[in-house]
Amino acid sequence: MALTLDEARAFHDEIFVMDLHADTAKLMDKLGYDLAARHERPMPTVANLIGHVDLPRMRDGGMAGQFFSFWTNPLPERGCTRSVNRQLDALDVAMGKHPEQLTWSRTGADVRAAKAAGRMSALGGIEGGQALESKLDPIETFSRRGVRYLGLLHFSKNAIGRPSKGRGSDPHEGLTAFGRDVVRECERCGVIVDLAHINRRGFMDALELATVPPMVSHTGVLGVHEHWRNIDDEQIRGVANKGGCVGIIFSRKYLGSASIDAVVDHIAHVIDVAGEDVPALGSDFDGFVVPPIGLEDIAAMPNLTVALSRRGISDRVLAKILGGNVLRVLDAVPAWGKLAA
Ligand SMILES: [Zn+2]
Repeated sequence: MALTLDEARAFHDEIFVMDLHADTAKLMDKLGYDLAARHERPMPTVANLIGHVDLPRMRDGGMAGQFFSFWTNPLPERGCTRSVNRQLDALDVAMGKHPEQLTWSRTGADVRAAKAAGRMSALGGIEGGQALESKLDPIETFSRRGVRYLGLLHFSKNAIGRPSKGRGSDPHEGLTAFGRDVVRECERCGVIVDLAHINRRGFMDALELATVPPMVSHTGVLGVHEHWRNIDDEQIRGVANKGGCVGIIFSRKYLGSASIDAVVDHIAHVIDVAGEDVPALGSDFDGFVVPPIGLEDIAAMPNLTVALSRRGISDRVLAKILGGNVLRVLDAVPAWGKLAA
């Protein structure tokens, strides 16, 4: 039986709804965006590419946790480390003002404890290895500040490898020697490797190297929609075999449709290919995406739960898709790696 919207909202209270990717901290840093203020829901048009996430609407969406992804302009590859730190600062300030609402989490236990205390969890991620400026040291520094995943690539070549498309893309080049060191250093520092945006060759190199579960924080799948930004079945299975998860993006362009059911299609494909322990949510809100109709912002998350339940997905599997799989990965990758916490 499909859930009603009210039932979906009540269900979110019982489970842990997690989103793997939103670019909100950049808006906070650059535009003075107030995370604690309620913003108008963007209209479903191409003109509203940002303004999808704030604390009141995260509450409305029944969110337990949000990964804030810090992205940097890689041209030139300078000032990127500083930019990530500024985005972390912006989140620290917002949390300092509203400690009763939002708190840093690293582990599944942290997320559960925060929810029990009535708080939502913020988790950190980085989009694009240019944030390291070709050095390994920043990984430990970022980890200590709350970063839990590192997306190796973004839209341009960096010292780690090549993007799936964009400046310097090359399907024949995989991870560089530095890129391999980065994967190892991430594991040492309790930072999960995020394989969104990297080319297929680099994706497979990183998988082979990984001794703890990786993730793909925001992506579509080629099995549903042919697009260079999406990953194929072998890539999905590769992540599954390492115990990782795959966050499905809320972008019409990569989903191939403006329907909320397209998100369900991509999630269902991940289940068909690799099982119920793999799919997750990776909205890419505030990242210049045009989300599907009915999924205009983080407050609309229960609509997705309704759409998933209409496919006959059980509550048990829904709980995994909506956040349980993310918590499992957080639990499987030691929170501080080999660092002394
Ligand atoms: Zn992205």
